[in-house]
Amino acid sequence: FAINMDQLHLDEELGKGNYGTVKKVLHKPTKVAMAMKEIRLELDDAKLNGILMELDILHRAVAPEIVEFYGAFFIESCVYYCMEYMDAGSLDKLQGDGVPEYVLARITGSMVRGLKFLKDELQIIHRDVKPTNVLVNRKGQVKLCDFGVSGQLEKSLAKTNIGCQSYMAPERIRGESQNNLGTYTVSSDVWSLGLSMIEMALGHYPYPPETYANVFAQLTAIVDGDPPELPEHFSETSRDFVARCLHKISDRRATYAELLRHPFLVGDGQRSVDMPAWVEKAVRARDARIRNQIQAAQNAMS
Ligand code: ADP
Repeated sequence: FAINMDQLHLDEELGKGNYGTVKKVLHKPTKVAMAMKEIRLELDDAKLNGILMELDILHRAVAPEIVEFYGAFFIESCVYYCMEYMDAGSLDKLQGDGVPEYVLARITGSMVRGLKFLKDELQIIHRDVKPTNVLVNRKGQVKLCDFGVSGQLEKSLAKTNIGCQSYMAPERIRGESQNNLGTYTVSSDVWSLGLSMIEMALGHYPYPPETYANVFAQLTAIVDGDPPELPEHFSETSRDFVARCLHKISDRRATYAELLRHPFLVGDGQRSVDMPAWVEKAVRARDARIRNQIQAAQNAMS
């Protein structure tokens, strides 16, 4: 069945992305809470229909590590995209001052299984692996969203954004300066996975913008510098795992199958981890930080 706007009751805003807003909605016929993303695109109806057709493949992306897709529709020049509501939000806001190693292992395991599923079952390369695109719920589940399935959608979004936090692999940064398509293989996602792991471990992006004079200097550091590493207090095993992801030469990076066999993830499989408890704590800490920020902003104004 197809979802349309009349069936939805709109609730609060969950966040703003680079391309539009995400709202919590209730699908009235089924009583299912969903997250609805609004993407404004200045395209004609034929192109918008093309995007909806391309998004249809998402109905087959059903796996425990993938945010479920419920459907999409367009109104005027906006595409509305409905997906599973993840009640703890995205990892970038939950990582705080950095997640402990056992949590990092659990999250990484989900990410690798999700990425492997997309590639093996649907021949999809994610193309945008980063903590913002890893969503969490209070059950402790960790799922990927925002992967590139629609060429047309990607093309329409590409113009609008070059972020100052690049998770792009060196070959992609280099490739894009030569042609606009860039060269993208599955190993570019493995780089982004490694970089995301370091960000989650540190609690901030590993090439902090304030260290560099400009975006060019920052990208140069990614392309020409040594790859970043996990901090010292992480185990040799975890540091080795990340190093296997962050090879500057793309074909030296580990495959998903190799990563799943790595002691870092094998060890995770043998441990029991109370993820719901960690999520609960991380959500509370996040909400306290937000309250403090609001308070500080109010103090500054008065
Ligand atoms: P971006 O464009 O930066 O990737 P998004 O537009 O995808 O960001 O999302 C913006 C914010 O909305 C996210 O940071 C997240 O907190 C929230 N969000 C997105 N999708 C969901 C979802 N399925 N469930 C709950 N929150 C979500």
